[in-house]
Amino acid sequence: MRRVLIIEDDADQREILAEFIRECGWEALLAADGESGLRTAQAAMPQVIFCDLLMHGLNGFQVCRSLRSDPAFRNTLIVVTSGRVFEADRLAAIESGADEYLQKPVPLDQIREVLGRIAESASPAPPAADDSSGITTMIRFWGVRGSIPTPGPGTVHFGGNTSCVEVRADGQIIILDAGTGLRALGRHLVEEFKDTSLPLNLLLSHTHWDHIQGLPYFAPLYRPHAHLRVFGYEGARSSLSTVLSSQMESPFFPVGLQDVPSHFEIEELRQMKFNLGRVQVDSWFANHPGICVGYRLTTTAGKVAFFPDNEPPTRQQQVRAAAGLPEEYSAAYAQSEEARLIGFLKGVDVLIMDAQYTPEEYTLHVGWGHGCVDDVVKLALAAEVGHLFLFHHDPDHHDDTLREIEARARHLVKDAGGRLEVQAAREGFQFVLPCRTAAR
Ligand SMILES: [Zn+2]
Ligand SMILES: [Zn+2]
Repeated sequence: MRRVLIIEDDADQREILAEFIRECGWEALLAADGESGLRTAQAAMPQVIFCDLLMHGLNGFQVCRSLRSDPAFRNTLIVVTSGRVFEADRLAAIESGADEYLQKPVPLDQIREVLGRIAESASPAPPAADDSSGITTMIRFWGVRGSIPTPGPGTVHFGGNTSCVEVRADGQIIILDAGTGLRALGRHLVEEFKDTSLPLNLLLSHTHWDHIQGLPYFAPLYRPHAHLRVFGYEGARSSLSTVLSSQMESPFFPVGLQDVPSHFEIEELRQMKFNLGRVQVDSWFANHPGICVGYRLTTTAGKVAFFPDNEPPTRQQQVRAAAGLPEEYSAAYAQSEEARLIGFLKGVDVLIMDAQYTPEEYTLHVGWGHGCVDDVVKLALAAEVGHLFLFHHDPDHHDDTLREIEARARHLVKDAGGRLEVQAAREGFQFVLPCRTAAR
C-alpha cells in the first residue's frame, strides 16, 4: 500500500493530516519528532514524507539532510511544512533536500495534489548526476520570476527568484538561465558533489539581467573541481563573454570572471543545433527585444522546451492594429511565425514558457517582449504539448494572483477539451520524465 509518513510534534495537526491522508486511500504513519521519524522512515520506506520544520531535537532541515544522505531515500518525496513564511526558510528547506515547502495550516487540496502526483509505483525524485541510464529526465525550478527578484510574504508559495531551471538528463546537468535562482542551485550542487568533479552546462536564453544576475553568486564558480561551460548567443551590442564579464567588473563586483578558480568556458553559439552528450539541443529565436532564444532539449526520456521570454506575435499584431498603432509586421507574417513555433514545439513533453500577463495586463505592455497566459495555453494546445509550466511570473503578481492565472489556464484547457496539464512554475518544484504524475 502507498505510504505517507507524517513527522509533526503537534498532535492535533498530526491527526488532522493523517485522517485526510487515509481518506485519500494512503496508509499514514506518524512520528512526533525527527529522531523517531527517521527510524520510522527507515523501517517503512514511505513514498511521501511530510515533515514539520520547527521541532525539538532534530528540526526539519536536519531530517531532510539525513534522509537525502541515504541513497535509499533518493526517490522519496519530502514536503516540509511550517507556519513561518520567511523566504529564507523555504530556500533552506529546498537546499536541505526537501522537494516542497508548504505553509501551515496546509490546505487539504494541496495535500491531495501532492499525493495525486505520485503514481502507484513511481516517485518524482531526481536521478543522481552520474546516472547515465537515460531512463529519466528531471526538471527542477530554482527561479521562476521575471524582471527582478521579489522576495516577501506575497511570493512565498511560487518564489521570488528570477529565471533558473535545472535539467538532469542522460548523465548531463544542464542549467537553463542564470537568474538569481542560480545561487541556491549552486549551493545545492556543492553540497551534493563536495570535492568531486562537477561538470556543468549553462544555456543562456539571453543576457537581460534577470537571466544572468545569479552567475556571480554561483558557488561552483569558486570551486576548482567545477567545470562550467556557458552557451549562448552574441548579445545585441557586444559579445557574450563581454556581457558576462561586465557584470563582474569593478565597481559592480569584487571578483572578475577571469579570476575565478573553476574551469570556466564561454561558448558563443553560431549554429541552432548541437549536442551535450546524448542530449540534442535545438534553439529558436524568440520574439523578444535583442537576441533571445528558446531551447528544446531532446533527451532519452522526453523533450523539454524552455522559452522564458517570448511575446506571441499574433496578439501583438492584433492589439496594435486594434489600437490604430502603426503595423510592425503583417497579420500573415505573425501567423506564419506562430505556425513555425508550433512546429518547433510539436509534441514536446514539457514546455516552460513566458506567461507573464493576463489579457488585460497585456494590452498595457504590448511590445515589451512577454506573453499572455491565454496565448501560451493556445500555443501549447496547438503544439500538443504534454505539460505546460507558466513561467517568468510578473514581479507584481502575488501568489493569489498566480493561483488565479493557473486556474484560468486550466479552464481554458477544459473549455477547449484539451488534455494539456498546466501549472504555474513554482520554485523548488520538480518534475520527472517520463511523466509520472497522476491525472487530476
Ligand atoms: Zn526576462
Ligand atoms: Zn528579457
